[in-house]
Amino acid sequence: MNGIEVRFLGCGDAFGSGGRLQSCIHVSHDGGRFLIDCGASCLIGMSRFGVEPNDIGLIVVSHLHGDHYGGIPFLVNASQIAFGRTEPLTVLGPPGTKDVLVRAMEILFPGSSRVARKFALHVGEFSDRETVTACGIAVTPYRNIHPQADPSFALRIGCRGRIIGYSGDTQWTDALLDVARGADLFIAEAYSYGKQARGHMDYVTLMNHYGETEAKRLVLTHMGREMLSMCGKADCECAEDGKRILL
Ligand SMILES: [Zn+2]
Ligand SMILES: [Zn+2]
Repeated sequence: MNGIEVRFLGCGDAFGSGGRLQSCIHVSHDGGRFLIDCGASCLIGMSRFGVEPNDIGLIVVSHLHGDHYGGIPFLVNASQIAFGRTEPLTVLGPPGTKDVLVRAMEILFPGSSRVARKFALHVGEFSDRETVTACGIAVTPYRNIHPQADPSFALRIGCRGRIIGYSGDTQWTDALLDVARGADLFIAEAYSYGKQARGHMDYVTLMNHYGETEAKRLVLTHMGREMLSMCGKADCECAEDGKRILL
């Protein structure tokens, strides 16, 4: 494969707005496949859009809300019971990810955190602005402003010479300039059109700052009902479940 392919397996919010699946972005390159966030509906998205779960080597999690990490217990459980996975799976997420994953797995599938697996599950936790290299990509997390799940991070991901910036869930913060500066693709939350909500981004504020990032391409995600109704008037692309982008 030349370049990389980004595919939205889910671009919805936490409330099921527009019937969209929850945040889950699949990236393929010639060195592997990884997910940016893994909402609870991830297995449905993979099945719907023809993604092979066993090919995913890494999941990068922006913050510990169920619509961003809640699919991991489902994926790990299915990988063990139904998919015959043998290759290792790595999860990188904010501080607390190890503990939260164990608790979520025990609540959803009792015993699943302690079972002897046929594959290794590695869980790493990142620190603000410290780049982690895993599965052939470099991830730099930047603390954002999403007090509902603090600490929460936006992500700058280097992969095969391309840069993907991802806001995660956040109101505007100048940290996003570092995340998206000159990026080939900036995937940004636009939860509402103009109404400012604590911990979330609105389209008008985002567009007021987008030019400063000098990112080459902007795609909106995690849109709530109001923003979904305004997509036709947006001056940039809006994600859809299944949307494919080649970089
Ligand atoms: Zn969310
Ligand atoms: Zn959130």
